Amino acid sequence: MDYQSILNEIAEEIAPLLNDGKVANYIPALAQVKPNQFAMTLTLFDGTQHSIGQSDTLFSIQSISKVFTFTLALKFFSTDLYKRISREPSGNPFNSLVQLEYEHGKPRNPFINAGAIIVTDTLINHFGSCELACKDILEFIREISDDLSINSNDVVSTSEMEHGHRNLALANLMKSFNNLDNKVEDVVSTYFKHCALEMNTKMLSRSMLYLANHGSDPITKQCFITPSQAKRINAVMLTCGHYDASGDFAFRVGLPGKSGVGGGIVAVVPKLMGIAVWSPGLNAQGNSLVGTKALELFTDKTGLSIF
Ligand code: GLN
Repeated sequence: MDYQSILNEIAEEIAPLLNDGKVANYIPALAQVKPNQFAMTLTLFDGTQHSIGQSDTLFSIQSISKVFTFTLALKFFSTDLYKRISREPSGNPFNSLVQLEYEHGKPRNPFINAGAIIVTDTLINHFGSCELACKDILEFIREISDDLSINSNDVVSTSEMEHGHRNLALANLMKSFNNLDNKVEDVVSTYFKHCALEMNTKMLSRSMLYLANHGSDPITKQCFITPSQAKRINAVMLTCGHYDASGDFAFRVGLPGKSGVGGGIVAVVPKLMGIAVWSPGLNAQGNSLVGTKALELFTDKTGLSIF
């Protein structure tokens, strides 16, 4: 398939939409990002990459990091993890408090903020301290992406901590239900640090190969998780990866995917490739507006959805 021509067509078709989304402004450090930027990269199993747009530009991966922390937590805690988080779509915004109250502090899934905060808490327990958790999460992401240059942006994580009242409220609520082991501020600041990791679409699409290949990297041959765990992560990405727009994403794109409020989206084409797309303008549910459209065009044009 001529992937490069398909990417060129997509770039042309999304161009009129580039000013339609709204950049996340509840994190002041992200409010300054220009909305009309776009990049998309496909990484195949032999490492071949096809890109369009600003595929070397680093951006804040935000909630995409939840895929990596969920992977690590599953690796260490296996099914015990589901004693503390569920694996059902929430049908609510990513930072909603309401459901958490009536479900007694047990988050619906690892991709809404509350669930990801629990996952971070389990990783702090596993690694022994916040510092070690930050260091080891970063190392794991570098390994999975085969890229040692990846780093977290302290300006972004500090900015989010200064305005993190809602995430602190989620963590406090879970603490009141005895579902948080470590100190609220420590867990939330560790969570913000992994959200503030910066990557570009080349790195992110490369990082998805283990999920497209039953848990093992098809290039380095390194095995990160079991095939059954990879299946489950993909399933949770499909059903929960876009919060209250997960149904819409499955309907329009038809691939396991995960978005972040930095405007990035990763998607997995099983047994074939990893995809990443970036455009900072978001839709009402906090997912990249153009990014979702680009992925929809991609699966329509190639037939490469899972359905
Ligand atoms: N760090 C962001 C937050 O907690 C991540 C949200 C997202 O990317 N959807 O609000």
